[in-house]
Amino acid sequence: MEWETVIGLEIHAQLKTKSKIFSGAATAYGAEPNTQACAVDLALPGVLPVMNRDAARMAVKFGLAIGAKINQTSIFDRKNYFYPDLPKGYQISQLQLPIVGEGSITINVNGEKKTIGITRAHLEEDAGKSLHEDFHGMTGIDLNRAGTPLIEIVSEPDMRSATEAVAYLKSIHSLVRYLDICDGNMQEGSFRCDANVSIRPRSQEEYGTRTELKNINSFRFVEKAIEFEVERQIDILESGGRVVQETRLYDSDKNETRSMRSKEEANDYRYFPDPDLPQMVLEDWFIDAIRAELPELPGARRERFISDYELSDYDAETLTTSKELADYYEQAVAILPSQPKLIANWVNGELSAGLNRNAIRITESPVTATMLGQLLTRIDDNTISGKIAKEVFEAIWRGEGNADEIIEKCSLKQISDNSTIEPVIDEILSNNPNQIEQYKAGNGKLLGFFVGQVMKATQGKANPKQVNELLRKKLDT
Ligand code: ADP
Ligand code: MG
Repeated sequence: MEWETVIGLEIHAQLKTKSKIFSGAATAYGAEPNTQACAVDLALPGVLPVMNRDAARMAVKFGLAIGAKINQTSIFDRKNYFYPDLPKGYQISQLQLPIVGEGSITINVNGEKKTIGITRAHLEEDAGKSLHEDFHGMTGIDLNRAGTPLIEIVSEPDMRSATEAVAYLKSIHSLVRYLDICDGNMQEGSFRCDANVSIRPRSQEEYGTRTELKNINSFRFVEKAIEFEVERQIDILESGGRVVQETRLYDSDKNETRSMRSKEEANDYRYFPDPDLPQMVLEDWFIDAIRAELPELPGARRERFISDYELSDYDAETLTTSKELADYYEQAVAILPSQPKLIANWVNGELSAGLNRNAIRITESPVTATMLGQLLTRIDDNTISGKIAKEVFEAIWRGEGNADEIIEKCSLKQISDNSTIEPVIDEILSNNPNQIEQYKAGNGKLLGFFVGQVMKATQGKANPKQVNELLRKKLDT
């Protein structure tokens, strides 16, 4: 039987507000436990929540960016459950009327575009954290995270493979960072995802029974967890069993999913509108102001890179994954507008490799966009070859100066005048009569040998194009 995979994702993105969604306590990550939890977050009696305007602003920003319907009246509901890290005994969330309604986002998988439906995005508060280490058989509770604003972004079951799910997750990840509403840090848990997975016979219209995978905190694990789960479900169905609707935990050490709770054990959350919070009404001016300050979005920027700079899908995609990288690229292009492709190659090549090797971000690059632009200008005007440019790049990285200074200091200027190159060529030819004979006998590959010798003799400084031309002229006549 041919099976088709069906996936829907629920993404939780922590909003970058300074204070919590319903209290004035700070949201900064990494503080001493329970130093950023005020009376509201601790659920002391008599306190009242007050909605954080910035959280609403950020949710609307997201909604506009995915072309969604913004619900100008939305409602906060209580989702009741008992857990030690939830002192109120309920989480404030949105059920019936979320702030952001239906929208969509376009993803790119192997050059193919696909639109993924987004059902809704609602505001809610995060819970605290249980700490199991350092407590000698007991559990500690840290409520610093309690009340941190989240948007939960719920997709339609529109994805058909783990690859599509990861592409969608990456698109949302890149979008929330472009919008500057979430820092996207998956290790710290500010961007997390649950994956709903089912399979069905390829010809069947009806969806199969799904499981929900929790605890996946990296793009790679999302892919692996889904792939494992699909295989597990296929095994069950092919051996005549039935998939049970349940929540499963992904274990990245063992690369497997394990049952956490079945549908029968699922909580009945007894949702009802929170009587402490009025309906949230957003006026037109509030939404219009947010629309006016929307930045260019990653999808639009990618398309513009393809049309303005004639970049490949791949180059445009990688260069627009983060706003900082795209900005860097365009700053370098501003210095050398005639060579957008060369610049893309260097940003995606040498520069990215350097950043990865040193585990630093583009904003921390010791080679600034301007410095890279200046360096590549020297390739473009034939001052240095691409090969020498790599050495100069390393030197700029080490802080030895800008391109022109290093080229000057280390005498790296390309030798482009024939009267200097010719004698070198003549000497090499006279030292290698055998190779000349073989070349003339039809072994064309030997041209590369001669070029190599000339480059070696000039410490890589001879203009390779001229060397090629001169050699050809001498050997072929
Ligand atoms: P719940 O109310 O239990 O959270 P929802 O209907 O809101 O369920 O769906 C939650 C997520 O599960 C959504 O992202 C949705 O796209 C996805 N989903 C629903 N049905 C399926 C299915 N059969 N297979 C895969 N994903 C599904
Ligand atoms: Mg759900």
